[in-house]
Amino acid sequence: MLTVNGKPFLDTLIQEVARHGITEILLLAGRFGEQVKEAYDGVDMFGARLRVLIEPSPLGTGGALRFALEELSETFLLLNGDTWVDADLTDFMFAWERDRQSSDSSSVQILLQYVDDMARFGGIECEGPTVVAFREKDALARNRPGYINAGVYCMSREIVEAVPADSVASLENDVLMPLVAAGRVTAHMAPKGSYFIDIGVPESYSRAQSELWEARRRPALFLDRDGTLNHDKGYTHKVSDLVWIEGAREAIKFANEAGYYVFVVTNQAGVARGLYSENAVVDFHRAMQSSLFEIGAHIDAFEWCPHHPEAIVDYYRQDSQRRKPAPGMLLDLMATYPVEKDGSLMVGNAASDIAAAEAAGIRGVYYSGGSLLTLVAQEIDRLRSN
Ligand SMILES: [Mg+2]
Repeated sequence: MLTVNGKPFLDTLIQEVARHGITEILLLAGRFGEQVKEAYDGVDMFGARLRVLIEPSPLGTGGALRFALEELSETFLLLNGDTWVDADLTDFMFAWERDRQSSDSSSVQILLQYVDDMARFGGIECEGPTVVAFREKDALARNRPGYINAGVYCMSREIVEAVPADSVASLENDVLMPLVAAGRVTAHMAPKGSYFIDIGVPESYSRAQSELWEARRRPALFLDRDGTLNHDKGYTHKVSDLVWIEGAREAIKFANEAGYYVFVVTNQAGVARGLYSENAVVDFHRAMQSSLFEIGAHIDAFEWCPHHPEAIVDYYRQDSQRRKPAPGMLLDLMATYPVEKDGSLMVGNAASDIAAAEAAGIRGVYYSGGSLLTLVAQEIDRLRSN
């Protein structure tokens, strides 16, 4: 519950996880568990549903995970609550699933972070992609560069089942070490120079106050949806009607890899007209996200405007500042995510898209057909070379 820039660090961590397409998040709480439950249990944040489990007594990191067994998916992502590394978590999960299809030996994948000075951390030794040793914190490692455990894992549920119930266990010593010995832990490197912060250390905690927002600042690719990402059948809303535009998924992956936020901003007047519900909009977006996961890509957030001044459904009848050509959806995103306006762009197939972009102070690019990848790659490359 430590705050950074006036809000809990956990909010930022949840936002970072959710923007990679994770829709269910379980918080394992120990000390101050009631406070965590009060703030987060049953809450929806950034498109993810949160739940909180409080361990009955201090069980250690491994014991707490075992306590949560019934709640875990067959495979899941595990993160420390007090560290953050700037890494593409979708790509991290994608790499693990791909490796598991070619060999079944990996039960855990660890994200490794390159640091210039390993003294404060335990180092990790690898042979190829396989982790062969965890080193203890080592004062002799001062000023020695190397890879450390960033506290982010992909895991299969079966390894948690192997931990004895209701007993104290350490994730590192009791769960990971035996798997390392069995050659079942693999590593995935975060790009060198990726930002990493551990707010459990006092000097890093004070550093986070000034650095965290800036460290997360990146340009954004805002995308219209119907007619730009998917073929527009007129009030498209059925998952079975999702047909991607040529190069659209690849354009999103290109932007992910270029370090851009990718946001969808879409008018959904069909809701105001009573043709479909907002739940249908959410389902359609989930289907888009699932399809993107198949190539290791993701959309960071979806914004839609269900309002229309002439709505049939009373609830949605209003002249919303979020409805394009007004820039509200883009401005809301820029207030929620640290967006670098220089280098950002909005791509859409209607004059209202370009108008919304310009009203938000973002470059607007008209899409008139052909490969969306070609257009997006060309625009991003140009913006980055400026
Ligand atoms: Mg459109």
